[in-house]
Amino acid sequence: MARDRSELARDLLRGARLRCTSQRVQVLACLSGMTGHFGAEEALAAVNMLPRPPVSRATLYRLLNDLEQQGILRRVLLSENCSRYEFVGPQDRHCHLVCASCGRVEEVRSTVLDQELRHLGEKYGFSPDRASLEVTVASCNECERQRARELTNGD
Ligand SMILES: [Zn+2]
Ligand SMILES: [Zn+2]
Repeated sequence: MARDRSELARDLLRGARLRCTSQRVQVLACLSGMTGHFGAEEALAAVNMLPRPPVSRATLYRLLNDLEQQGILRRVLLSENCSRYEFVGPQDRHCHLVCASCGRVEEVRSTVLDQELRHLGEKYGFSPDRASLEVTVASCNECERQRARELTNGD
């Protein structure tokens, strides 16, 4: 399994024309085992679990940035000072609904939205290939319910 991930990491780095150092392969192989959305701190924690942690925090952050630039990782902005990363396959286009209160993220796949993003991109001269759409709402239903409960208990 670890070997497969190393292979995958090598392919990704080569495809992105990033230098294939053993350090990068090791880190990317580790990151590719992470599912869903993860923060830079979580990535660091995962890398630090490796038998011999191969990179410093600064190097890891730079690598995350490079991977994002190359479209291997996508950064999901949850709020002004909170972003998370995710791996994106070439065919996996999705948008995010984000609750500003609790930070819950829901992935939304919609061909209608995809087509509209493509259309808007063409109209305004932006390449929509790596378009990302995060819709932030003030609070999700669960947060609303929580607030209602607090209000009734407060009296
Ligand atoms: Zn996502
Ligand atoms: Zn919420």
